[in-house]
Amino acid sequence: MAHSTLRSRLGCWLALMGMALWLTACRPLTIPMPTAAVPGTAPALAPGPVAGAAGLDDPLYPTLGNGGYDVLHYDIDLTVDVAGNTLNGATTISARATQALSAFNLDFSGLTIGQVTVNGAPARYRRQASELTITPVQPVQADSLLTVTVAYQGQPQPMRDPGVPFLPLGWQRFGDDIAVVSEPSGAMTWFPSNNHPLDKATFTMRLTVPKPYQAAANGVLSDTQDNGSSTTYVWQMTDPMATYLATVHIGRYEVITAAGPDGVVRRDYFPLGTPASVKASFAPIPQMMQFMRQRIGPYPFAAYGVALLPVPTGWALETQTLSTFGAGAGGAAWDEGEVMHELAHEWFGNSVSPATWQDVWLNEGFATYFQWLWQEQNEGSAAFNATVQEVYASMLAQDVGSPLPQQPPDLFTDATYQRGAWTLHALRLTVGDVVFFKILRAYYQRFAGSHASTADFIATAVEVSGQPAVETLLRDWLTNPKLPAPPAPSAQTPVIAL
Ligand SMILES: [Zn+2]
Repeated sequence: MAHSTLRSRLGCWLALMGMALWLTACRPLTIPMPTAAVPGTAPALAPGPVAGAAGLDDPLYPTLGNGGYDVLHYDIDLTVDVAGNTLNGATTISARATQALSAFNLDFSGLTIGQVTVNGAPARYRRQASELTITPVQPVQADSLLTVTVAYQGQPQPMRDPGVPFLPLGWQRFGDDIAVVSEPSGAMTWFPSNNHPLDKATFTMRLTVPKPYQAAANGVLSDTQDNGSSTTYVWQMTDPMATYLATVHIGRYEVITAAGPDGVVRRDYFPLGTPASVKASFAPIPQMMQFMRQRIGPYPFAAYGVALLPVPTGWALETQTLSTFGAGAGGAAWDEGEVMHELAHEWFGNSVSPATWQDVWLNEGFATYFQWLWQEQNEGSAAFNATVQEVYASMLAQDVGSPLPQQPPDLFTDATYQRGAWTLHALRLTVGDVVFFKILRAYYQRFAGSHASTADFIATAVEVSGQPAVETLLRDWLTNPKLPAPPAPSAQTPVIAL
């Protein structure tokens, strides 16, 4: 069941934002043409090595990410003093140079660097704000493989991001536990990276924590080493992951494991003493995975589960394969719609990641719409229609603007969640259920494991539907500062029986 309040339908960061920021864009927006963007593929303007760009020109976060290389793998090896919340270790980055490089940047904030090596040789470096500029002894040749190791230690400092005004981002304490929640920029508080979803990579995390603490992270636990007074947990994320989705949870847990559909490993991390009523919130996940499988395709990764913080939050975050939720306040269960929302992000947001932060509705609009679809399946079309009409009336009353954010504070708002979801609903009303789900499946299959832009989605919708007018409809819903009128339902709606 799903509660009938609007708030209950807002997953992720927005759930806490009672004072939501619905900023209306005042000028027409444009959507760039679809591109096969690959990080750091700026044309080489000079024959010799040049410094890689310090940013990827994201419309909202121009300095996030860096040019000149493509990260293939992060190996993050950290020993954590839980009592002091300090860490000591190294991150080794395997990358491919996409141009000849005299120097290149990583995004890294705070902590004290001990040494930087490039291909085994010590390298010079300098730091300015969150930019770490590394100058190797020998320039890096284009297309060569690059191994960069940064050794560091200290106490991570959570950072403020104007896109998430209600919470510091990155590595931080929650009660007695330590956890990482980073969307969009916080990954740089605990490991150096190419900190933008355009450059996804696989991860190994080796986390050494004193007994009796446990350490959970993304992917599959591949090894546990008993060191006497400490334990090393080795986690492998073998599918590409954006840096903002990387997480670590350190605490004392009841770990519940189970076999999921299609061989997916299920493991949930509940702080000791978590009430049964809270744990029960996550019981429908196998049915939700089946629901997504029928509509879109099999679950994208090798594992799924949740990690709970020991304190109530009011928000949840779709950290890849291990969604982060707060404790239920006073033993209250999580809303089923929010559990569905975070799971849906594994397909939309995590497997298909936004090409830029301006495309965040491809995460939030989709996850919100799948909340509504879950309600439609379980409570019927009358309940579903009541939800979409209630949301539409609310958006109209608040003059909710374009779902394409123009600045970081626009990221997690009713525009990206609710108008984003209504954009999909308008498409469904126009093309009918059969074509609508064909479009979503084609979009997912085309961009799974990678990233997509708003223009990529529009192009897919036009191509699969064979209806050029769909482009006009989607552009109106996505760029018009005024909320468009709901389209008349197609004669083909509704016919779905999955
Ligand atoms: Zn979300």
